Amino acid sequence: MTAQRLDGKATAEAIRAELRGEVERLTARGARPGLGVVLVGDDPASAVYVRNKTGACEELAMHHETRSLPASATTEEVLGAVEEYNRRRDVHGLLVQLPLPPQVDATRVLDAVDPAKDVDGFHPENVGRLVQQRPRFVPCTPAGIMELLARYEIGIAGKRAVVIGRSDIVGKPMALLLMHGNATVTVCHSKTANLAAVAREADLLIAAIGRAGFVRADFVKPGAVVVDVGMNSVEDPAEARDLLDPSRMPGFEKRGRALVGDVHAPSVAPVAGALTPVPGGVGPLTIALLVKNTVKAAAAAT
Ligand code: NAP
Repeated sequence: MTAQRLDGKATAEAIRAELRGEVERLTARGARPGLGVVLVGDDPASAVYVRNKTGACEELAMHHETRSLPASATTEEVLGAVEEYNRRRDVHGLLVQLPLPPQVDATRVLDAVDPAKDVDGFHPENVGRLVQQRPRFVPCTPAGIMELLARYEIGIAGKRAVVIGRSDIVGKPMALLLMHGNATVTVCHSKTANLAAVAREADLLIAAIGRAGFVRADFVKPGAVVVDVGMNSVEDPAEARDLLDPSRMPGFEKRGRALVGDVHAPSVAPVAGALTPVPGGVGPLTIALLVKNTVKAAAAAT
């Protein structure tokens, strides 16, 4: 058996295509959806993420802009950029690209985002609304995973779900969404005992750890649905040979690096019932849901 490939890229394209009409309708009414990004420092990965996010807005002819601040920016300077976007009527959604440099108080900055423009869903008000099952903006990565599962008609109710990772941006909101979908949810983390055995109980396993190829075949119940959230860059050739499907090695040799997930796809694919690829899985969905949240913010503001 080889796992069904859950195509996040195609699903993301479908989501964006569905948004086109709404963007046109809002634009015609003088409320062209707009995304404002605050980018601090020169982390190359952050720059790529921001380009992907603004590129997706561009594709739908939405307004977008990025306010870039130097790595030495103070908390007050970042707050100033956030507050400017909060005031702007043509910016409906705003996000602060993480991580922020250590001297910047990230909690203060995220708390300063207008909850009505908080398209990342990180503001405590939006987190509270999600907990109470009356969501406004849901964090984009777990929201994207829920869309993927729904579009592949993968039922959640009554299933055993295991989420590995308890971060505020992925693991916790993921667990809440699955619980609200009537799954029975277990959340695992770095202190979980017998992790592989716990994971093996899952009908639906979500890996959001940040460790390349961590989830191996012994973590997976035969036939389980496995969602790989991880985005890790591998540069060591021996590691690449272990982690990558042989078909990806020519690409690795050309570029000297490759993106891999938290799931060891070569060993898990023969056991799982369905699996998201990396790349082309959760990453594109995250961006599609950011666009969707921005369009929703624009619609709510008009
Ligand atoms: P994070 O904040 O670093 O959280 C990682 C979580 O994994 C923590 O809860 C940690 O446990 C747990 N963990 C770490 N090592 C573990 C181990 N050995 N055994 C069990 N649990 C372990 O990371 P994140 O922001 O949630 O991101 C997770 C991964 O998803 C990263 O690779 C990130 O790049 C990727 N990501 C992808 C997207 C996308 O769009 N595809 C979006 C966001 C994140 P503790 O809480 O005990 O430390």
